[in-house]
Amino acid sequence: MTLLDGKLTSATIQDEIAAEVTRLKGLGEKVPHLAAVLVGNDGGSVTYVTNKVLACDKVGFGSTLIRYEEDVTEEELLNKIQELNENDEIDGFIVQLPLPRHINTNNVLEAIDPKKDVDGFHPINVGRMVANLPAYLPATPAGILQLLARYEIETDGKHCVVIGRSNIVGSPMSILMAKAAYPGNCTVTLCHRNTIDLGYHTRQADIIITAVGKPGLIKVDMVKEGAVVIDVGTTRVTDATRKAGYRLRGDVDFDDVAPKCSFITPVPGGVGPLTIAMLLKNTLRASKKEVYA
Ligand code: NAD
Repeated sequence: MTLLDGKLTSATIQDEIAAEVTRLKGLGEKVPHLAAVLVGNDGGSVTYVTNKVLACDKVGFGSTLIRYEEDVTEEELLNKIQELNENDEIDGFIVQLPLPRHINTNNVLEAIDPKKDVDGFHPINVGRMVANLPAYLPATPAGILQLLARYEIETDGKHCVVIGRSNIVGSPMSILMAKAAYPGNCTVTLCHRNTIDLGYHTRQADIIITAVGKPGLIKVDMVKEGAVVIDVGTTRVTDATRKAGYRLRGDVDFDDVAPKCSFITPVPGGVGPLTIAMLLKNTLRASKKEVYA
């Protein structure tokens, strides 16, 4: 069994990006600049955005953090997005989700110029991904593709079972794994909360990618000997022995399942760290105008 080390892979990708920034600077070219919009004070969101901004500093990108109180109006937010769309210094920007209930998330996402949509959530980028056109891929699925590729995991002709159908992980993951490219060329089954007998499907999988958020969902008897298991789930569970009072758990019963696998991601330290690396990569691509001229 090989542990898929997301921390190490993320650090390698970030080193590659930093080297490219140094090269661009040497040529007198523009340094990539990412902006992040954060609404409210949700602990998880604050941590995610702070980490994204810190990662920009580490690789030599410029960054801007724009914060609003929970009661910001949709109009104010849309005005800021328009301003960011028009600001040539900003190559790409993200609006951290989830947004408060009084704001229509789709209105916000659709207001972002697709050329600057480095989260890859705009319908134009989703459509371009499906149609095999250059697009910003959503960061978490893109990170999983990197893990598979960098560990040279065979995917051709394999049966990949994706669990969860969210717009940000499960759905795009299922599309990407079926593409006529490496890592892809899989036969894909997409399972979700309405799936009858999840184990029936997972037992046939050569590759399981689970993005649900239910600790203990994937038990040892649901996994085929030698399977590749990618666990996107990250759920906070109470743990009095930890300083924070909680720890993160994936969807997979790791201790039981790991010995059966050919490759498996730990939680934390698997898929999570790659998400930031891929956001940086999208920002670099935006700055170099690699996706849209
Ligand atoms: P979500 O929370 O929007 O939806 C969960 C999905 O799981 C739904 O599609 C639902 O149909 C499916 N589901 C629920 N119960 C099920 C069951 N019993 N059997 C099969 N499917 C079931 O999904 P999300 O936003 O993709 O998040 C999923 C998990 O991944 C969460 O734990 C989240 O924290 C984590 N996540 C991690 C990263 C990262 O590490 N970088 C990024 C995104 C999400």
